[in-house]
Amino acid sequence: MSDELTLRQDLVEQGARLAASGLSQGTSGNLSTRCGEGFLITPSGTPYDAIVPEGIVLVDGDGQWPAGQRPSSEWRFHRDIYLARPDAGAVVHVHPPYATALAMCRRGIPPAHYMIAVGGGDSISCASYHTYGTQALSDAVIAALEGRLACLMANHGMIALGSSLAQAMWRAVEVENLARQYALALQIGAPVMLTDAEVTDVLAKFANYGLMSSRS
Ligand code: 13P
Ligand code: ZN
Repeated sequence: MSDELTLRQDLVEQGARLAASGLSQGTSGNLSTRCGEGFLITPSGTPYDAIVPEGIVLVDGDGQWPAGQRPSSEWRFHRDIYLARPDAGAVVHVHPPYATALAMCRRGIPPAHYMIAVGGGDSISCASYHTYGTQALSDAVIAALEGRLACLMANHGMIALGSSLAQAMWRAVEVENLARQYALALQIGAPVMLTDAEVTDVLAKFANYGLMSSRS
């Protein structure tokens, strides 16, 4: 496992990338990475360009953090994902335009493009709406992520998991791209869905594709 300082620096760098890519803006969204029995997470309400390695908050296995620091308001769903999903090494939560527009309509993403496989199944679900930072939101997110590596969040945004932070970031970018393509296709007409067999075929190939096969 990477040492803690490297993980802190990685979170700062990927946060800056997030802001530059337009996946999130201002103080929206948050990032975390598993660290020992707990996880490291971005601080609450802090612009990405103001986050420094020492400002990243270590939430321990008991859900405690150092006095004087304030982890992201969404620390509950980050904690619950690490508890429920041994396959998750990192979590990226963002409010990108197209995924969020679909989520504002409380719609998920169906198998209209083979890259749906990036979410780990034949669709990406939209978790029900709950106030940000609540246990109810965390419970809804865990349900929407069942058997999946990404979900949308009603009237809010998107979550992507990864074995590493780099993989979770890659997935978040691909899910936003899928959402954009699906939204455009809806404007043209009725997107044609892939069959179960076609999706199953892609899911099998995908296990060895690009960052999917990487653990670092
Ligand atoms: P934080 O600044 O507390 O991480 O909140 C941002 C966010 O996206 C809440 O859902
Ligand atoms: Zn959010």
